[in-house]
Amino acid sequence: MLTLLLTTLLTQLPAQTLRTGAAQVRITPPIGTPLGGNYTLRPAATIHDELHAKALVLELNNEKAALVALDVVTIDRETVDSARQLIQQQTGIPPTRIMISATHTHSGPITGSSTHHEWAGSTHPLAREFRQRFPSLIAESVAKAHANLAASTVRAGLGQEHSLSINRRWLKAGGATDWNRITTPTPADNVIRPLGPIDPDINVLSFESTSPKRPLATYVNFAVHANCIGGTIVSADYPGTLSQLLAIRDPAMITLFTNGAAANINPLHLPEMRGIPGTARAERIGTILAGDVFKILNQMHTLAPHAITSASRIVSLPLAQSPAEEVNWARQIAQGFGKPGQAPFLDLVKASRVLDVARWGGKPRDAEVQVIALGREVAWVGVPGELFAELGLAIKRASPFPRTIVVELANDSLNYFPNRKAFAEGNYEPVSTRFAPGAGETLVDAATALLIQLF
Ligand SMILES: [Zn+2]
Repeated sequence: MLTLLLTTLLTQLPAQTLRTGAAQVRITPPIGTPLGGNYTLRPAATIHDELHAKALVLELNNEKAALVALDVVTIDRETVDSARQLIQQQTGIPPTRIMISATHTHSGPITGSSTHHEWAGSTHPLAREFRQRFPSLIAESVAKAHANLAASTVRAGLGQEHSLSINRRWLKAGGATDWNRITTPTPADNVIRPLGPIDPDINVLSFESTSPKRPLATYVNFAVHANCIGGTIVSADYPGTLSQLLAIRDPAMITLFTNGAAANINPLHLPEMRGIPGTARAERIGTILAGDVFKILNQMHTLAPHAITSASRIVSLPLAQSPAEEVNWARQIAQGFGKPGQAPFLDLVKASRVLDVARWGGKPRDAEVQVIALGREVAWVGVPGELFAELGLAIKRASPFPRTIVVELANDSLNYFPNRKAFAEGNYEPVSTRFAPGAGETLVDAATALLIQLF
């Protein structure tokens, strides 16, 4: 009797085999939809390549997790909440185990609703329509991946690439901060050194079905802005090229690209490519990255995860405060937007921040930091905004996991998270951030605590 009971119990125990499902859903917006990522209205005029919502679902011992990568510039909390709710209804995966991030392509539909998003067309009927459909498109990608779950193995690899990115903040000869560098400086640029590092890590995970043996998904994380293109072209930017080239492995394989801590990191272009179409610049970056991934794929090691775990923490972040006269000034700047004599760029950036903080009532804002882990081997850290490279590197250094993947613009987009030092140095990101100095470091502390807890 006891033997029978034991046998029954043992056969009911879940098999300790990882199952993986991957899928993508097209999310290319119609022509005319305003594009996100700039302080100007840019209605989409041509489609260079299709945009996707891509989902990876993992299951181990009846525990599941979903990682979603979206070809959009940012993803806001409202969309994440709706999508997570739909995903939970359709697949049973709880919100704490769903990480939804944006690749940060600046050639996709506008998705946010803050002041500068309004300037760039977020209230346009086509933009509203996209936002309305977006949660169900995201959920559809996860439901499809969930339906594809199959016994799999997972391999991990790490490489480095130093030639594709540049810290975009440099110290000028006179002491000021030079911003938005995209090429190696020449003596004429009169700059001394970068004000921060890049993160050269390329983290690669390959999920392969066991029978038949074929690649299901390649997960790639690298830290560099996807802003190669500009204008009114719809494109997934360099992650699109990367995905097309990695499909050489298997046409049905899904490539999920997520951006690392890239707030202050731009793509490093060849100077002679400044004047040519941005799509060519994106293709060059994506091609080299794909070459790196192919090299890394030959130096991978197989993981043997025993569990999928997750943890989230909501931290309350104090906002950047403005005196009342600054709010009046910002309203005047906003009134002049798009008119002759429009304010200079950094004034637009500051006014947008001041108006957003006023709109939020100046009260501290909640930010979710999320960690999903595969055994004690790989941890994904989701941060809800654009994180300075220094802060992403700090998370990696503090993590007890052998492989820590920092995913920015995950589960929300609360604008920039500079490190403390950048506030004194000034220029774009610390002017743009909605938060008081220290918010970025608070995210690092929360991520570190979660990583140690899960390990
Ligand atoms: Zn950005």
